[in-house]
Amino acid sequence: MFRATCIAKRATHAPPLYRLAPTSYARLTSPALLARTYATTPESPSSKLIRRARTAAKYTFFIFGSTVVGCVVLTGAIFLHDAFTYHNRNIEGVPVAPRALQPERGGPKNLPILSTLLSDWEDDENRGLAEKPHLVIVGGGWGAVGVLDKLNPGDYHVTIVSPETYTTFTPLLPSAAVGTVSIRSLVEPLRKIAARLRGHLINARAVDLVMSERLLEVETISPNGLKDQHMYIPYDKLIIAVGSTSSTHGVPGLEHCFQLKTVSDAQAIRKRIIDNFEAASLPTTTPEERKRLLSFVVCGGGPTGVETAAEIYDLCQEDLMNYFPKICRKEVSIHLIQSREHILNTYSEAISRYAEDKFNRDHIDLITMARVSSVDHDKVTYTRRKPDGKVETFEIPTNFILWSTGIAMNPFTKRVSELLPNQVHKKAIEVDAHLRVKGAPLGTVYAIGDASTIETSIVSYLLELVDEADKNKDGKIDYDEWKIMVSRIKKRIPMAEEQLMKVRELFDLYDSDADNSLNLNELAVLLQEIGNKITALPATAQVASQQGKYLGKKLSKLAERRSVLEANGLTMDEGDEALAPPFRYRHLGSLAYIGNAAVFDLGRFSFMGGLAAMYAWRSVYWSEQVSMRTRALLMIDWVVRGIWGRDLSRL
Ligand SMILES: Cc1cc2nc3c(=O)[nH]c(=O)nc-3n(C[C@H](O)[C@H](O)[C@H](O)COP(=O)(O)OP(=O)(O)OC[C@H]3O[C@@H](n4cnc5c(N)ncnc54)[C@H](O)[C@@H]3O)c2cc1C
Repeated sequence: MFRATCIAKRATHAPPLYRLAPTSYARLTSPALLARTYATTPESPSSKLIRRARTAAKYTFFIFGSTVVGCVVLTGAIFLHDAFTYHNRNIEGVPVAPRALQPERGGPKNLPILSTLLSDWEDDENRGLAEKPHLVIVGGGWGAVGVLDKLNPGDYHVTIVSPETYTTFTPLLPSAAVGTVSIRSLVEPLRKIAARLRGHLINARAVDLVMSERLLEVETISPNGLKDQHMYIPYDKLIIAVGSTSSTHGVPGLEHCFQLKTVSDAQAIRKRIIDNFEAASLPTTTPEERKRLLSFVVCGGGPTGVETAAEIYDLCQEDLMNYFPKICRKEVSIHLIQSREHILNTYSEAISRYAEDKFNRDHIDLITMARVSSVDHDKVTYTRRKPDGKVETFEIPTNFILWSTGIAMNPFTKRVSELLPNQVHKKAIEVDAHLRVKGAPLGTVYAIGDASTIETSIVSYLLELVDEADKNKDGKIDYDEWKIMVSRIKKRIPMAEEQLMKVRELFDLYDSDADNSLNLNELAVLLQEIGNKITALPATAQVASQQGKYLGKKLSKLAERRSVLEANGLTMDEGDEALAPPFRYRHLGSLAYIGNAAVFDLGRFSFMGGLAAMYAWRSVYWSEQVSMRTRALLMIDWVVRGIWGRDLSRL
């Protein structure tokens, strides 16, 4: 049946017989006759083979030919594009505002005030922007990039203040520290990111703030030999996104430790690892010294510590083993010291267990329930409590210690916090649900990312909440009024939502005198306890980025609706609540790399595994890159590592 269909098909596609009369032609080309003709002359196996070989050759030629043509066209296009990228532009008569060349001095310290920048008069668009509200973003990390991503061009005169000229993709710093990816693949110049908004970069460090005059004091980062200068940058709105530093927990000797926060930290770590291996491979090195040089200690069992330990293990297994004396690999020991019972303790229990099993299989020494008591240049000392309550002290001789045990306030954040008496948080600046710094003039100073924490204290709003909800003004809150109060609390502090699900149960539980209403004392206890149960948002890139994007969108909305606000008797500084809902965090899951394997904690379910999970982990980070340029570089890095291994040169 199948064969008959094929013959009929071939028959209908037979070439036309042009020179015959139409009737003869129709007879000769009738499917029945053609089918009979074909059926009576079966194809020999050899001609069938030849025909197939010809078809295969034809398609191979087409594929090969089109690939060659494609490559030639692509190469030609690249060269052509390249040829057009060389310019020799003449720039003459660029207008510069006199005030930009000679800034006036002022403020409490009589410093130059950069109210106009060098490029503000460059063209009409820049002149227009100079008249717009001045938005100053302090920092160039995840939070800042989130803001820049969502701001509409033309709404603000944007200035970024950052001691670094680039933004860093921090999640891949552990990979960069061992050379799995190169540093260049993790950074993107801030000037390029800000170009869409015609934003400016001041390469400086923020050191102080004069909120009453809206002046930010900065210290410039000067090239070698030049004295750092102090100056003021005026702002209409200021965003503090300076991140954090590592928490010291009062442990002495941390100057002997590496941190992993910046690209220079990653470079220093890489250099030390290679140095240690080179020194260990000298015949003159004693066995004890070799052991010490090849002992790597990571303090902190959170994602950064775990990922760094895993990357060091990969480096030893996959690369150093092949190029250094085998004895070096044999002597390598990796120790991970964690104060809690499990590593990755903020992830699900299954993930912690999976990571611990993997590390045990890899002979990474997991030291849990231990506290580092001191660090010296050649050893780490830690203590552990025995079941009988006695404390035992241990030492690990080492020449590499990474300190990664949580976050603390950056010096600028600390300074801002000191300026505001109502700021009492130890690790970050407290902001309200609209990300406005508590205690700062309303709507002028915001803080996002690691530098900030959203307030969770509901009890501090007790009187305001009672005032809003107590409709009959009897000084007590009945159940209907309690429902109003719950909706007001959710609006003020969205993070309290989860604790306020059981409205009736809460009311009954805290109505201790059972009079069907909550008096001030009962309410105070209720709100205090709910506040205590709210967990602060984690210090992650995810939070910083979402906060930055929220703020970018909101600030653009404020700029767009400025006239509407003014028509309603409000200024831009008072528009936050009127125009935008409070910030809400959406947790998208946490991931971690654990050495040719990865774990995903997606809230309700977890996913963990070997290479497949690792590729998924890479895909997530690849898609999260700031630009196509870094995506391309990252892809090349992973391919290069796969083919040629990590670069072992110490640069
Ligand atoms: C090794 C490592 C791995 C991580 N992995 C993950 C991960 O996988 N997932 C995740 O969600 N989070 C991860 N994090 C956490 C994440 O990087 C931070 O939470 C995030 O960077 C916080 O963003 P931020 O904008 O607040 O600060 P940052 O991104 O740290 O940016 C701070 C910026 O402020 C600048 N700055 C500092 N001081 C000043 C000053 N005085 N004046 C002006 N500028 C200043 C800095 O130069 C920097 O540009 C990781 C962090 C590290 C260190």
